[in-house]
Amino acid sequence: MKILDAHRRMVIRSDGDGTESPLLTEETNPADSPHSPNSKHNHSRPYINPHGSSHSHQHGKSEAPTKYGELVILGYNGFLPPGDRGRRRSKFVLYRRPVANGVKRSKHYVVKTPHNSQAVLNVKQHSISYTLSRTQAVIVEYTEDDSTDMFQIGRSSEPPIDFVVMDTYPATESGPGNENRMAQSTISRFACRILTDRSNSAITRIYAAGFDSSRNIFLGEKATKWQENREIDGLTTNGILIMHPRGQFCGGEAQCGSWREISVGGGVFSLRESRSAQQKGNVVEDEDNVLKDGTLIDLCGATLLWRSAEGLSKSPTKDDLEELVDAINAGRPQCPVGLNTLVIPRKAVTDSAQQQPYVYLKCGHVQGYHDWGQEKDKATRRCPMCLCAGPIVKLCMGIEPAFYVDRGPPTYAFNPCGHMATEKTVKYWEKVAIPHGTNGYIAICPFCAVPLEGSPGYVKLIFQDNVD
Ligand SMILES: [Zn+2]
Ligand SMILES: [Zn+2]
Repeated sequence: MKILDAHRRMVIRSDGDGTESPLLTEETNPADSPHSPNSKHNHSRPYINPHGSSHSHQHGKSEAPTKYGELVILGYNGFLPPGDRGRRRSKFVLYRRPVANGVKRSKHYVVKTPHNSQAVLNVKQHSISYTLSRTQAVIVEYTEDDSTDMFQIGRSSEPPIDFVVMDTYPATESGPGNENRMAQSTISRFACRILTDRSNSAITRIYAAGFDSSRNIFLGEKATKWQENREIDGLTTNGILIMHPRGQFCGGEAQCGSWREISVGGGVFSLRESRSAQQKGNVVEDEDNVLKDGTLIDLCGATLLWRSAEGLSKSPTKDDLEELVDAINAGRPQCPVGLNTLVIPRKAVTDSAQQQPYVYLKCGHVQGYHDWGQEKDKATRRCPMCLCAGPIVKLCMGIEPAFYVDRGPPTYAFNPCGHMATEKTVKYWEKVAIPHGTNGYIAICPFCAVPLEGSPGYVKLIFQDNVD
């Protein structure tokens, strides 16, 4: 396991340049995407279109909706193991809503019992109650905001959650991640909310906690909260952490930044002593909660990658990646022992065990499955090409495009899982520290969430091209 030091100082500003991103038409059909939890309520609100274009549905022609970006769960290579279903999927595409459903902070006041207060009882009124003591709570009311779209993420399958995210368990040799461990989940049912400016998707902000079906957020007596300049704010139990990359994610020159905690009100704080400690961290003045291309969001149990629509337009598509696999296969790579042609599968399940290539993780030589060099009572093998002994693993293409930092041939693979990607992509992820347990960090393969092993945690692939 590779332990990384994540306590590096960084200064990041969002690059809100106001440019509209080109539309991407592949991927999820917007009709698939979960509808607004507030759609009923929204219908009574005026439709506001800052671009002044006419509403497509009225004219019967289908105009592609504006894509804001994607949230992709680390550890899935394009889909959840049982397959994407409804609001449970490996990634969630954020599209501009037909009608704005954002909310913004309005008035706040002190009450004795929040559960009896008008704002909490009114299921049409968004509110956050901060319980200070048994006899005192502060209620912050939220009003409709026609300039933003809201998207909510959490473990709950209740309607207000747009993207249902369960804890990620790394896939193993014996099968994909085990899903039967819900009882131990550390992800909040209403973990966080994201608000995108409808006229400038570069301004996409994240906040801890999401509104429940009654449009309330409750911070109980034990939750960390504070009041400054008459504004009240707080943290959720396990918190929402974000990490903005230092530099541009696209291009592969970015480095892992510092992890920060985001408050319910959207403030940025240094990390607590441990994940759920009572004492909040310090305010980080020069950073904000605006997501930038490549920002990681840690929900404590699953980590999401934010890719802006603009950033994704520079990344390879799934078709591009499949073409790259085809290009390597067209070179008819050969097993130096079996002398058979190897075929890299696009998916984990291969059609032909005989053609499945394996990588020798110490040296990078790619071969078929054979017993040559197998050491007695050991899982390791001696490579027939260079006589270096070490573990071997099936090669498999990293096919989720969002994890790529550049375009190019997949000439490297992660150790120990064998997921292939570009050189810059493996080198980027090898240096990214992902929160693990209560206060540790590890580097993982973004395609399967397996902790990387070795130093470095990847290997350059060496194919034996079939020369005849
Ligand atoms: Zn070798
Ligand atoms: Zn992997």
